[in-house]
Amino acid sequence: MNQITYDLLTTICERCGGRCCFYAKPPLTEERTSVLLENGMTSDDILFQNYRKLDCKSTGFCVGYQDGRCTIHHVKPETCVAGPFTFKVSGDMLEIRIRQERICDLARFLNNNPEVYREQYELALQNITSLLKALPPEELSEASKAWRGSTDVVATIPLAEALSSDNMN
Ligand code: SF4
Repeated sequence: MNQITYDLLTTICERCGGRCCFYAKPPLTEERTSVLLENGMTSDDILFQNYRKLDCKSTGFCVGYQDGRCTIHHVKPETCVAGPFTFKVSGDMLEIRIRQERICDLARFLNNNPEVYREQYELALQNITSLLKALPPEELSEASKAWRGSTDVVATIPLAEALSSDNMN
């Protein structure tokens, strides 16, 4: 993705007011937790409740969200990089989902720009599969139950294939 497109996507996200970051609680691998701790987050910012995740402030916004933007953008969790795509594990299948346009201007932009859509989809798939591979199975199972409302399925992949595929690393 070129810099102009990347900047445009960032601007679209910043205009929205952080709806993705409201009660987001993105799941964290052990490695991501270490990276976040090295980049300004503290152990108080991380919650273990069924699975390890970034906590929210009393306002409901993610602890990483401040003044209308993500303060840890360069090291943010895999599911944040994947946005507006997200995932759900349904039995032995991995669903890749996208936020509905009515709640996400970025999704609307991607749906109208197939080339950028494809690039972001590939980035999302790479990050989601990397997260799934790194999470302990019991945490993956719990993280996968998290709310995925107002999203539509865009792809269904056998979970075993996603977990074993080298090109999804
Ligand atoms: S880590 Fe950043 S992008 Fe992810 S929910 Fe928190 S503030 Fe939003």
